[in-house]
Formats: sequence, C-alpha cells, structure tokens
Amino acid sequence: MIQKISELSKILNSSYSAKSILNSLHDFFADYFGVKKTELYTWDGTTSQLRDFSRNWLYIDDIFEKKVVGQYYKIYADIKEKNSYEIVEDKLYFPLKKQSKFIGMLEFTQTEQADELLKFLEVAADVISLKVQNIILNEKMQKNINFHDSMKNIAKIIETQYELNYIVPLIGEMFDKFVSNHLIYIFLRKEDEQEFSLVWPGACNDEKIYGLISILTSDSECILTADKKTGVFPLISEGKLFGCIVTKSMEGKLNDKEVDYIEQLTNQVATTINRANVYAEILKHATLDALTGFYNKRQLEERLKQEVSSSRRQHLPLSVIMTDIDFFKGVNDTYGHAVGDLVLKTVSDVIRSQLREYDVAGRYGGEEFTILLPSAGIKDACMVAERLRKAVEKRMIDISKLTPEHKNINVTISLGVYQMQDGDEISDLIIKADRALYEAKSGGRNKVVSAGDMENL
Ligand code: GH3
Ligand code: MG
Ligand code: MG
Repeated sequence: MIQKISELSKILNSSYSAKSILNSLHDFFADYFGVKKTELYTWDGTTSQLRDFSRNWLYIDDIFEKKVVGQYYKIYADIKEKNSYEIVEDKLYFPLKKQSKFIGMLEFTQTEQADELLKFLEVAADVISLKVQNIILNEKMQKNINFHDSMKNIAKIIETQYELNYIVPLIGEMFDKFVSNHLIYIFLRKEDEQEFSLVWPGACNDEKIYGLISILTSDSECILTADKKTGVFPLISEGKLFGCIVTKSMEGKLNDKEVDYIEQLTNQVATTINRANVYAEILKHATLDALTGFYNKRQLEERLKQEVSSSRRQHLPLSVIMTDIDFFKGVNDTYGHAVGDLVLKTVSDVIRSQLREYDVAGRYGGEEFTILLPSAGIKDACMVAERLRKAVEKRMIDISKLTPEHKNINVTISLGVYQMQDGDEISDLIIKADRALYEAKSGGRNKVVSAGDMENL
C-alpha cells in the first residue's frame, strides 16, 4: 500500500496540467487496479458548475442539455450528501475533499478489484485532492497573468501605435491567446456607415453572428446567446459605436468571469481604435511619417505625381526603388514591437544617409519604403539599391536598452528597381518596382532585382 501511495505521489508530482494529471491517474489505476477508464470531475465554486477535467472546459451542464448528464448531478449530490462513495452500474464514484470541503469526484469504469481500490482510495484521495486543488489554483493564476499581460500589451499599443491596419491583427492575436478555445472576430464600421465589416480574420460564415451585430446600438452592452457560446462585445468610445468583437466558443460556454475579462479588454480596445481613428484623421493633413520621418504614403503619392511630370517635361529618367525589410515579423515576435520600431527607425536613417538631397523617400506601408530617384536611369538606380542593401546589412543595431538580455542585431532588406518607360501610368511605377521586389524576396531576400533582370529570367 505504502509503495502504491508513493508511486501515486511521484506521478502526480510530475503532472502540471489538467490533461496530464488525468492521464497519470488513468494509467496508474489501470496498472494497479485494472480500471478500464478513470475520469475526474471538479466543482467550480465560482461558476457553480461541475467540470469534466479530461475535456478541459466542457461543463457537465452542457451535456445536460443533451440529456446525458442528469445522472451526474444526481450522483454528485448523492455522494456529497452521504459524504461517501457510490456505485452505479459498472462505475464507481469517489468523492474528493479538501479540508472537508467538496471539490469533485473520481469516476472509475469497470473496476476488477473494487474492494482493494476503495481501501486504497480511503488513504490516497487526500493526495489526489491536494494535487487537483493545486492545478485549479494554478490555472486561475495563469488566467490572471494572461489577463494582465494582455492589458499591458494593449497599453503598449495605445502608447506607440496608431495605424489601424497594424493594430487590428495585434488585437486579434491577443484575444486569441487570451480566450483560447474561442474563435475571435473583429468588426469595424466607418463613422458614416451603417454596415459593419469584418476586419479580422479573413472570413466569418456564421449568419447568427451577423444577426446579432445588426441589433447593436451605441448604448448596447455585451450580447450573449442563450447557450452562452457566442458573445458580441460592442466597441464604444465617446458615445460612438464603431465596431464589435465577437467570441464564439468551440468548447463549453463563456463563464461570468471570462465575460467580465473580455468586457474590460474590449473597453481598452475601444479606446485604442478610437485614438487610431482620430490619428488617421490628423494624418490626412500631415506629410511626414512620425516614426521614420519619411513622407507618408499620401504625400509620397503626391510627390510621385510631381516627379513623373517633371521628368517627362525635362526628358530625364526617373527610377523607383521599392524595399521591404526581410523577416521583419520575426524581429517583432522575437524581441517585441518596441525593438521592431527601433529597427524601422534605424533602417530609415541608414537609407536617408545614402540618398542625395533631391531623392524622395517615403514609408509606403508598415516596413516597406519607396524611394524615387529623379534623373537616375536603371543602372544608377541599381547601384544606389545595392549601396542601400549593403549599408543596412552592415548596420548593427543596439537593442540592449529595450531588451537587456540582447545586444546587437542586424536586419537585411530586399529591393526591387524600375525605371519609368514611355507610356507608363503613374501607378505602374510602383507596381513594377513592387514586382521586382517580390522577385528579390522569392529569390532568397537580401537582394536587388531590377525589372530588366526579370525579363532575362
Ligand atoms: P518578408 O521577408 O517576406 O518581408 O517577411 P516579413 O516578416 O518582413 O513580412 P510580413 O509582411 O509578413 O511582416 C511585416 C510585419 O511588419 C508585420 C507587422 O507586424 C510589422 N509592422 C508593420 N508596421 C509596423 C510598425 O510600425 N512597427 C512594428 N514594430 N512592426 C510593424
Ligand atoms: Mg518584410
Ligand atoms: Mg512587408
């Protein structure tokens, strides 16, 4: 007996999650008592639900709706009242207690040695209860930590980022991490529009969701479906409704605590998106990108028009370079977004230092830059591009101020070059340089490709 107990403690001590503790118990009771199947149910005091440990967050009263579970509640109530085990058909149910408080029950299917098992459980149940209780506490703590991390992340985004295209996927990913087991959708609508459009992820085919969204108003609170599997959380800031976050459970239903968390997160997100919208409005009137000091996209397009017409007027060549940082997502993912921003700023500084006074540099998108080279033909433009490539590759970026455990990193860029031809539309210049950039990427990155090279491919 003592040997069995110590064996049990040993395997319990090496389990850290609901899944692994269940597997351990299952194997142990199969090996020592010939039990066909071992299950564990725990009672969640906060939500007053019985939880099936093996299926993680599938609550028993979900099965109840499918008319299976009535007996579980009955058994549970019985053994709780009797404060003792119960045998129903081929199953043995054994209560788990922690300091005489009921925390759940074990279910053994087809036990060959029921008497021995019961004797063992009289002694061993406390060890199991303790471990189960620890795991539940741990999970709760982990949830809290995740929540605070998410809040901190959002706070960081609020401080540093204003571009909606950039913020939305971050928010989506953050919710995904935070409420795992749920599908997350983000819908936004423009101020003067009635319709909401899905902005994250690519598609949502659930008609029910669209139905729920259509009843949102600017003083709506969150809407939960009757089965509590789908939640619609309106994004409202300064009295304006401009979108919503929808969570759809894959397993189980939303509990009150989760609803509460998601509501808090949604409020933060609403502030962030509202600020981004306000900022976008301001940006329309600005000319320079705040992070890099380059022209912003709108102004870049303005300058492109001017350069095209002046080159044509003077019969001078005009070349365009499109460049994009290689594996930049990896930089964000490995070192964090603050380092990503520093890298962006440094790369833009390096580019600036290599250009002539009358060259034009703009931030075309996130980590994509456009450079206009007036009076440069394709050969000169390729030389400039190669110079930029080398200079960026060589430049060590000290990130130790942001992540003390790291010191210097470097990144590379890929570049596509195109010289304007007769008959080109203005948009062709960007499109063709971008196509060359794409070739540089697929050809291995850290490369210059010109449209001329492509014809020779
Ligand atoms: P590739 O070599 O194919 O270009 O790979 P990549 O990882 O650079 O490509 P991708 O376009 O998938 O990733 C670009 C990333 O740039 C995605 C986005 O998170 C990030 N990004 C865009 N704007 C900003 C910004 O202002 N700051 C930071 N830190 N990251 C940004
Ligand atoms: Mg890139
Ligand atoms: Mg890119």
